[in-house]
Amino acid sequence: MRIVEVAMEFAPIAKVGGLGEVVVGLSRELTRLGHDVAVIIPKYDFIHLDLNLEIPDFVSFEHGNPVSNAMWSTEIEGCHLHLLEAHHPANYFNRGKIYGYEDDVSRFLYFSRAVVEYLKLQNEPIDVVHLHDWHVAAIAPMLKDLSELNVKRIVLSIHNAEYQGKCAARDVEAVGLPASDKMQDNDPKYPKTINLLKTGIVYADAVVAVSPSYAQEILTPFAGYGLDPTFQQHKGKLSGILNGIDLELWNPSKDPHLSAKYTVQQIAAAKRKNQQAVELRFGLQGQGKPWVGAVTRLVPQKGPGLIEEALQQAVHEGAVFALLGSSPVPGIQHRFEQLREKYKGHKQVLIHLEYDEALAHQLFASLDFHLVPSLFEPCGLTQMIALHYGTLPIVRATGGLKDTVFDLEDASVPENKRNGFVFEAPTHHALADTLRRALKFWHEEPTRYQSMIQHGMKLDFGWKTPAQQYLKVFQGLS
Ligand code: ADP
Repeated sequence: MRIVEVAMEFAPIAKVGGLGEVVVGLSRELTRLGHDVAVIIPKYDFIHLDLNLEIPDFVSFEHGNPVSNAMWSTEIEGCHLHLLEAHHPANYFNRGKIYGYEDDVSRFLYFSRAVVEYLKLQNEPIDVVHLHDWHVAAIAPMLKDLSELNVKRIVLSIHNAEYQGKCAARDVEAVGLPASDKMQDNDPKYPKTINLLKTGIVYADAVVAVSPSYAQEILTPFAGYGLDPTFQQHKGKLSGILNGIDLELWNPSKDPHLSAKYTVQQIAAAKRKNQQAVELRFGLQGQGKPWVGAVTRLVPQKGPGLIEEALQQAVHEGAVFALLGSSPVPGIQHRFEQLREKYKGHKQVLIHLEYDEALAHQLFASLDFHLVPSLFEPCGLTQMIALHYGTLPIVRATGGLKDTVFDLEDASVPENKRNGFVFEAPTHHALADTLRRALKFWHEEPTRYQSMIQHGMKLDFGWKTPAQQYLKVFQGLS
């Protein structure tokens, strides 16, 4: 099949969260299976790679004016990657970051239109154009209504329905897409608002939510964020496919970021060595103590209040707590900066409020328990990464967390599926009980703890199965 993947992220060179990892993991696996996969992302100024100039100059449009672009390409992470360089006067992709600008809608709509112009230039039949999230969802109507391109199927993956790209009709019209009723948001208070995610759902031939549970949850107001009626209406083309983790990016026996690499047999000694490296770097003392922590974006979805409470409790109970996270929300960032001040010099607390890929890997290898207390979680990769690195997840039962983590004491699931700790209510009380259970388990059942972490490492969270499921959707078989 000839497959075109379009997204704003591609790990590790342009990654903010799970999206970039999914794009690389799925594309790599599809390529391995013999498909012709092209990935298209913007050429951000922070990407420094040896690139080939594929097309020096081609034109796209904004407000009826021609804007020049170049397309660069390279082979990376086993994928054909194409990077679109926009010679736009507003420097859309030369700003140091992927998201977080006031004109994000215009930036992503511009990119979407330019991708369509590029595909038109190529003028080759395409089996599947696979779009990721609201940022590029407008490509669906552009392909259907504005181009004669031979595209058999358009598939939209939804990584997070909270982010929808709401804008004005003039925004889509700026890139030559006539606004229509079908694109309008469901909120009756703002009937003229255009909703780009909704647009993608309406126009795509198939819609994939990133876990089976999330595919159910978005049918309800709790996770649909106002689009639940739209998901209901298009239920027939909606499915849920659990993301994989990319086993090249995440492989503890080869991971260049680890102080001690390890296999299943070497986990116990390696965990301590990795902890020692963290202790040395940050002045901690964690010998003989359980290590709890979280690697996460600090946004409301991830339960920052619960993370804070878990931190206080873990320290109170004599554990180490290591938090690696950063927040685009000033109030949350400020709160964690206060906590960092409060625990400055504390030998059991690490609060590192940065994006740090290497430290993330080192922490997944060092922690005993990785906390994911999300209020909702479309799929979540960190619980799977944690298990793969021999760290037991403590999660709230929602979305993909519910599909991947099963409580050690849950008699309703077979024993060989149980792999972590799960709590239901998003409350301090429920989390506190579960954290206490986990710490007790670590202290009182060291042999079983060791066998559980080894069991977790052997679970298969790779892309083989999900890629087959995607292929079925691509072929229109599910
Ligand atoms: P989301 O995409 O909602 O952020 P996921 O669990 O799907 O959540 O993916 C998060 C990814 O981002 C994981 O690979 C995690 O290790 C990484 N990550 C999150 N915060 C940081 C950080 N501060 N530094 C390094 N990596 C991070």
